[in-house]
Amino acid sequence: MVETTQVVNEGTSKELSDQEVFNQGLLDFIDASPTPFHATQTMAQQLLAAGFVELLEGEQWALENGKKYFVTRNFSSLIAFVYSPDLFVNEGIRMMGAHTDSPCLRVKPNPEKTAQGYFQLGVEVYGGALLSTWFDRDLSLAGRVNYLDKQQQLRSSLVNFKDPIAVIPSLAIHLNREANEANNINKQKHLPPILMQVKDKKNIDFKDWLHAQLELQGETDVAKVMDYELSFYDTQPSAIIGLQKEFIAASRLDNLLSCYVGLQSLINADSDKPALLICTDHEEVGSASACGAQGPMLEHCLQRMIPDTEQRLRAIDRSLMISVDNAHGIHPNYADKHDENHGPLLNKGAVIKINSNQRYATNSETSSFFRQLCDSNNVTPQVFVTRSDMGCGSTIGPITASEVGVKTIDVGVPTFAMHSIRELAGTQDAFDLSRVLTSFFQQ
Ligand SMILES: [Zn+2]
Repeated sequence: MVETTQVVNEGTSKELSDQEVFNQGLLDFIDASPTPFHATQTMAQQLLAAGFVELLEGEQWALENGKKYFVTRNFSSLIAFVYSPDLFVNEGIRMMGAHTDSPCLRVKPNPEKTAQGYFQLGVEVYGGALLSTWFDRDLSLAGRVNYLDKQQQLRSSLVNFKDPIAVIPSLAIHLNREANEANNINKQKHLPPILMQVKDKKNIDFKDWLHAQLELQGETDVAKVMDYELSFYDTQPSAIIGLQKEFIAASRLDNLLSCYVGLQSLINADSDKPALLICTDHEEVGSASACGAQGPMLEHCLQRMIPDTEQRLRAIDRSLMISVDNAHGIHPNYADKHDENHGPLLNKGAVIKINSNQRYATNSETSSFFRQLCDSNNVTPQVFVTRSDMGCGSTIGPITASEVGVKTIDVGVPTFAMHSIRELAGTQDAFDLSRVLTSFFQQ
């Protein structure tokens, strides 16, 4: 123990390893991306810096052989690709998918509430949030605001209050003696965060605040705030923790970790092989939207990349989608929640996710390909199948496979506390998966 601690302390003066640099980039990416809109913006900035060219869905695409492009939809989903038309039909496209959204609390349309002199905002639960973890956190607010400018044109802008401005205090145990036995949280009554104390019940208009926040962020042309999509988030920064620094603690690891792994792999591959990264919104609520994985965004993009139907279908047949979304690591305090032979461990490799009822799209052919890919990068994959007496989660893999007909495998790094406001992953796994996926995009 002592030796390990010394090594860690010495680490502050030594040069950072590739893995440490990668993990620091991951923490920065998560902290800069409190919402799917911010995640998409952050990814777009990194792609532009890496030489990718932005395409607009409403404009004509004049694609050039060997160039790299990206396109966004709803500013919350993104596709980046390497355009190598000469190779599409013979080689197919190396695809990777992830999702930009995470469970959270969204501000309601008419959110203002006061009770006992406290000003609160009404919230809707987005996705399957682990609600107890949202209590006693220093919360901030971020998302998209749509407004009329002074020329009466509709515009939108991202806002991020950044400061901790709200909190959902727990009820003291003295007032709820059963709190540790049955934590029943009423989504309507118990979740509205408190933002401040107010002297009287005068009307407070939340949109006026947004107007002021936009001006604070430099938008001087705002005439009237029309609407918004805003969610609360935890202001505690992401961190590397553990006695030997072996864990990553952060919000939204599901699934910004996978978005970041995909983004870095595609950029670092620096290859002219046909490759595509898709990161879509709305996975946590079923993916059925114009910009979700069940929508037509990928199909539309493929149609424009390969307009000839015959060639496109041949290319899809030779393509493979690696769908990356986090897996459940076996928890030492709840080990009986896993099948005894399928309990993935943190820091022991990416997890191949299998479900014979097609909650995951993996089959023996695609998993064999992935195992070979891992072998060639000295990574040993783990495998997850849910207990036979428990239901199984799902992800974008089966949805994409159903929509596009592309061969797909579902994988992901093992994590704890999925859908908590603060999740936990290993410091080794994301980096190792990025090495595997970089070689996938290159081969
Ligand atoms: Zn997920």
